Amino acid sequence: MTVQTDVLVIGGGTAGFGAAVAAARMGLPTTLLEATQKIGGVMAFCPGMPWGAAFPNDVCVGGLIQELTEKLQNMSPPAAVKRDCTLANFGPEIIYDHDIAITTMFDIAEQSGVDLRLGATALTPDIKDDMVMGVTFCDRRGVQTIKPKVVIDCSGDGDISAKAGVPYSLGDENGNMMGVSLTFTMIGADCEKVFAQNDPYFTKFAQKGIDEGRLHPDLAQLYLMRGLYQDAVFCNSVVIRGVDGTNPKNISTATQEGRRRCVQLAQFLRSDVPGFENARMTSLGPTVGVRETRKLKGIYTVTGDDLAKGTKFPDGIVACDNPIDDVMRSSSDMTHEAIVDSGSYYTIPFRSLMPEKIKNLMFAGRIISADATAFASVRGMPQCMAMGQACGTAAAQMIEKNISVQRLDLESLVRSLQAQGLRGIGRETLQ
Ligand SMILES: Cc1cc2nc3c(=O)[nH]c(=O)nc-3n(C[C@H](O)[C@H](O)[C@H](O)COP(=O)(O)OP(=O)(O)OC[C@H]3O[C@@H](n4cnc5c(N)ncnc54)[C@H](O)[C@@H]3O)c2cc1C
Repeated sequence: MTVQTDVLVIGGGTAGFGAAVAAARMGLPTTLLEATQKIGGVMAFCPGMPWGAAFPNDVCVGGLIQELTEKLQNMSPPAAVKRDCTLANFGPEIIYDHDIAITTMFDIAEQSGVDLRLGATALTPDIKDDMVMGVTFCDRRGVQTIKPKVVIDCSGDGDISAKAGVPYSLGDENGNMMGVSLTFTMIGADCEKVFAQNDPYFTKFAQKGIDEGRLHPDLAQLYLMRGLYQDAVFCNSVVIRGVDGTNPKNISTATQEGRRRCVQLAQFLRSDVPGFENARMTSLGPTVGVRETRKLKGIYTVTGDDLAKGTKFPDGIVACDNPIDDVMRSSSDMTHEAIVDSGSYYTIPFRSLMPEKIKNLMFAGRIISADATAFASVRGMPQCMAMGQACGTAAAQMIEKNISVQRLDLESLVRSLQAQGLRGIGRETLQ
């Protein structure tokens, strides 16, 4: 069977959601292939993970992430709240009700007219004359072909772009990738007691658990944070190192190892950390969340130096002030060094989302073209969603003018994104 579409979005994480909704709202027939049964990507694999970096200088980056946040905030009772992050150098974050947020994303995708195919994995691109002519995908009915005018790879791992010949690097300069994580929530906690500790990493308790052989040595920094609800604590603590997220066998093994460490940690919290006595584990992730795999090579590669200078690119499509959030790439530490001065920010250029050669392919989200330092900052979910939104919008301009992505008028793209409410982009200041 062959499916015709204007825009094919591969992967329904935050980037793919942004890309598909933006393209469909431009009136383009848009198909979104998502390998799992839920949109959200890492957001779905780590239920309850806050959206960070949506508020550089305390101003919202705008666009779809703002629309989604406001929809949730305006519900009764509110399904999302903006608050300060407890970690040094991070700005405000949005904590939300996971199930309501995902349902709202499905609603937005449906209302925009996206042809959503769940349980559908993109397999192989058919490349001719530097164009993606078709992509095979597989769902329970078997292998099918989709023939799109434009492809936006939002798969996090970039399998299809890599098969299409886009050069890439894996991890940092030594090939080290950040640790993957399995998360869970403790409900029934007495949060006043739990957070009386005033240490976001609960270091003293963690050390005791490690010394007594009851916690894995990589759990020296327990990252626990208040959930949206009064008795809920979100546990983003269990990190498994040395996992190649492009290898399904590695992911399966890491997930089972993560389950064991999460169960162990939940037992430890109940027995050793005041406030958890009557709490229990819930919302254990279905699989590990993968932070870092391929970084595709774009026309421009964002560097740590660009970030440190607070560079605002003329083709900047989203603002960001995230610190260097490096989670256990080469050591068992989590580092959160500020990259921009307080009150400053940088923007992510659209050229880091387009390949040098393939004419009708873009990529968005954590497969962005970035060096290892910049990657550790640009990868927040609000930024991924905005990257997707930019690519979906670019697809409309490519199709309307019948041009390749490399020939896009980037000023016109930025104007279109500004009209959609994205702030602090192009030559405009974030205010
Ligand atoms: C443990 C962890 C903690 C984090 N903490 C935060 C945080 O606190 N705040 C924050 O803002 N960000 C955080 N991040 C970063 C952020 O979550 C990710 O960078 C972001 O979600 C990546 O989005 P994405 O859409 O690019 O990719 P992903 O979310 O990885 O989505 C890719 C999607 O593509 C699908 N897919 C893959 N291959 C195919 C294929 N061939 N065919 C069809 N579908 C496919 C996958 O199933 C998945 O749904 C964290 C990340 C992790 C892993």
